[in-house]
Amino acid sequence: MQRDVYLFFGPPGAGKGSLSSLCAHRLGWRQCSTGNLCRQHIRANTALGKQIDFSIKSGKLIADSLIVEIVHDWLAYYLSDYNSVILDGFPRTVMQAQMFNELLRRQELGHFRLILVELVIDDATVVHRLTKRIVCDNKDCQTIYAQKDACLAPRQQGICDKCACSLVKRADDDESIVKNRLVVYHQHAQELLSYYQREKAHIIKVKADDSLEQVFSTFSNLIGLREA
Ligand SMILES: [Zn+2]
Repeated sequence: MQRDVYLFFGPPGAGKGSLSSLCAHRLGWRQCSTGNLCRQHIRANTALGKQIDFSIKSGKLIADSLIVEIVHDWLAYYLSDYNSVILDGFPRTVMQAQMFNELLRRQELGHFRLILVELVIDDATVVHRLTKRIVCDNKDCQTIYAQKDACLAPRQQGICDKCACSLVKRADDDESIVKNRLVVYHQHAQELLSYYQREKAHIIKVKADDSLEQVFSTFSNLIGLREA
């Protein structure tokens, strides 16, 4: 059985999370968001969770090695049960990518293909999108909504479809903060892409400035899938 690990890569607001949710929902894939995974570890009070919690409480960035370890643990657990899994927004830096590759080489997870999916969108569109989006206020849910996208609008205005909590504008979706997040993203993005090019990884570019439905259809065509 061919197994695929997709790395969804792109700026904040490119729609990585929304596209992964749709793939999970329609294609039966499993998605992994490192943010959610960190929260789960903290809540379950695992050894990794304790270290993550300590970093956050002491105001430090979570170490690359910790992030890589929780993602690798997740893969080891889920990869055998799913044909395709998505790592959403991982790796973020070349350091994480290198550590991840090393870990994959050392610990046998069986054969799979690593496919980098680059969501291509220009900065102006990202700024427009992020300053308009609303997010579920429930920390464990954080589903993202956009009024203008048929696929992303909540059924009831201001209320999350999944958990009925209220929808809010996130503080870091403020325009000046979004622009800063983009600067940080671009600092790492080119480096990371070059790394995967050198590693001869399979890279797919997906035009991401369309509606979610359109982006999904472009992506499915590029990987040669028809909807299940
Ligand atoms: Zn919710």
